[in-house]
Amino acid sequence: MSNIRFDALKMAWEHKPVMVEAPTEKASVIFAQKVFTREKMKEYIASNILDELFELMDNEKTLSRDIANSVAIGMKKWAMEHGATHYTHWFQPLTGGTAEKHDAFFDFDSEGKPMENFSGSVLYQQEPDASSFPSGGIRNTFEARGYSAWDPSSPAFVIGDRLCIPTIFVAYTGEALDYKTPLLRSISAMNKAAVAVANYFDRNVKHVTTYLGWEQEYFLVDESLFAARPDLVMTGRTLMGHYSSKNQQLDDHYFGIIPERVLAFMTELEIEAQKLGIPVKTRHNEVAPNQFELAPIYEEANLGSDHNQLLMSLMEQVARHHHFRVLLHEKPYGGVNGSGKHCNWSLGTNTGINLFAPGKNPYQNLQFVTFLVNVLKAVHRHNALLKATIASATNAHRLGANEAPPAIISVFLGTQLTEALNQIKKADVDKGIIINAKKEMKLGVGNIPEILLDNTDRNRTSPFAFTGNRFEFRAVGSSANCSAAVLALNSAVAEQLTLFREEVDGLIERGEAKEKALFSVIKRYINECEAIRFDGNGYSDEWKEEAQKRGLDCETSVPLIIDQYLSESAVKMFSTTNVLSPAELESRCEVKWENYSLKLQIESRVLGDLVINHVLPAAKRYQSVLLEKMMHTKQVFEAREAMALNEQDASLVRRIEAHASAIIADVDKMTKLRVTANHIDNQRERALAFHDTVVPIMEDIRKHVDELEMWIDDQLWTLPKYRELLFIR
Ligand code: ADP
Ligand code: MG
Repeated sequence: MSNIRFDALKMAWEHKPVMVEAPTEKASVIFAQKVFTREKMKEYIASNILDELFELMDNEKTLSRDIANSVAIGMKKWAMEHGATHYTHWFQPLTGGTAEKHDAFFDFDSEGKPMENFSGSVLYQQEPDASSFPSGGIRNTFEARGYSAWDPSSPAFVIGDRLCIPTIFVAYTGEALDYKTPLLRSISAMNKAAVAVANYFDRNVKHVTTYLGWEQEYFLVDESLFAARPDLVMTGRTLMGHYSSKNQQLDDHYFGIIPERVLAFMTELEIEAQKLGIPVKTRHNEVAPNQFELAPIYEEANLGSDHNQLLMSLMEQVARHHHFRVLLHEKPYGGVNGSGKHCNWSLGTNTGINLFAPGKNPYQNLQFVTFLVNVLKAVHRHNALLKATIASATNAHRLGANEAPPAIISVFLGTQLTEALNQIKKADVDKGIIINAKKEMKLGVGNIPEILLDNTDRNRTSPFAFTGNRFEFRAVGSSANCSAAVLALNSAVAEQLTLFREEVDGLIERGEAKEKALFSVIKRYINECEAIRFDGNGYSDEWKEEAQKRGLDCETSVPLIIDQYLSESAVKMFSTTNVLSPAELESRCEVKWENYSLKLQIESRVLGDLVINHVLPAAKRYQSVLLEKMMHTKQVFEAREAMALNEQDASLVRRIEAHASAIIADVDKMTKLRVTANHIDNQRERALAFHDTVVPIMEDIRKHVDELEMWIDDQLWTLPKYRELLFIR
């Protein structure tokens, strides 16, 4: 009898590296070849409207219809020269991933002659038939239609035969139905709030930019093995699989030599990413076998986030050329590390200052401490919400596991900074600030080292770490849209900076010197948000206890974590910063709960099918083999000897039977519970039912299946095993 696993293995071994021709030009030359950059706009767009267009782009405004027409003409010309025959608005609905609907340039002119057409109005705005995108009830309550509109701050690009125009996606009444809209609003809230505070230190600061540098972790798996694992195909993760004897314990994969076939994939990916203007920089093997990472040079956050979305789809496309599938799931395999997407986040001024980098003089250092402490304060106040932004059915497997950030948000600062903050905490406000005759300011706070970059201790267990000149939000899941986390972080910090400005202004109005006012508020903040700082081992059980005592959010149930979007503090924060209205928050929660239930519904169905169609048949087959052998033994040997000879086989048959019956009982129970959950109308209640009742049984089923995998003849097992999925490349 043929075994699909062996067929798949045979094909996998035959997959050789697909050589990628080295580009004839340097990366700096191919960079952004397929992007309609400002440079290209200058070439293709009439000069009389360029100024106006750039002005709009710089000031985060949307396009007017008038300019749209002139821009469209130039954009079409450029795109067609790069092989585009179609155009599409490219947006980021709440499903995750990106959405496109292609239209051909092809059209008829007024006399019925065929032509290539692309008008300003379709660049400006489109109405995708969006009724199937999740809206969490927004379109029911308000208006059925949604539309997408060009976001000129992210340039258009050409992929294959289509011109892609990055757009926001909103309901007719203006409610956001996507990730980009609130991200843009949060960037603008941050700009406003941060400029106001930066102006204490430098009146020349007119603009503060949010920067994002993500690190994308992913797994590769051979496509034929992938195809033989219905769970990978349908859910992106293995729902079963006994851990392989060797996994990552030798640490021999991390930063190891990149396998040739993988390197070929990476090379092609990098070339294609470069052409699309994604400034890819770093690549390496990650900790788990067949796990890798890619990171770009950081960019303005909206662009950075678009580029991450673009890269994820590019990865899937390029992987196929190399007979790989890319797994972006947070936890494709049990027993080895999962994948995250570290979001490195910082703020920079138009005067060239990184607000999270210690400065060259005490004044700049006071500014640095001001921004740092305000971040701590914001993360402290909204720690539960920040966790909600990264919570999902898929990331749930990774968080709190012994290799990923715990399901508790805390901030790691490192010894030097902790020491500096402790000194400020102790300092006497009156003596703390000394301004000498030369009007130089001195802080009584010891020296904050100018360069923290190289000597910060790296704490890999922290979900939110300060890494020298930026914060690194590590709890974000590998498949997530960065925006969800970044927009909440921006809003929380913007809200906090505004409160800070009010407090300090209040003191100044009452006659306090500016520096003293700043210093005393900072000092108080350091005390107030001390609970969020934690430099110890985030994996330890002691930390869970300690965090509870400190009042940090320790909830681990995803449906309950999602509640935090609707907490009083979150609703207030998102409203005052104009990032998300209460209705938008409600809709987002609905979508998150629904998504959670649907993911589990699918997983539970696939698991049921797999055990019935793959695992149990293999178990039965092996039992027959054993029983047949036992029968033959009885025929050949006299009764007592036969019994002795059959003893082991009999116990194996019983052992298999015990697991098989447990599985059948569990599947039966799981199906009933799933049906019950499916019938619950309220999205939150449904998600809770899946979490509380279905998940535990799925885990139990897996335990039995993995045991069976160990006992059943390898020749009869039809699903590719972990040692094959993880080590063949
Ligand atoms: P590590 O794994 O040590 O954190 P990587 O090189 O893998 O380092 O990734 C660092 C990421 O941080 C990159 O995406 C990089 O662009 C980003 N980054 C560096 N400096 C900043 C900054 N000031 N603001 C935002 N992101 C930054
Ligand atoms: Mg990093």
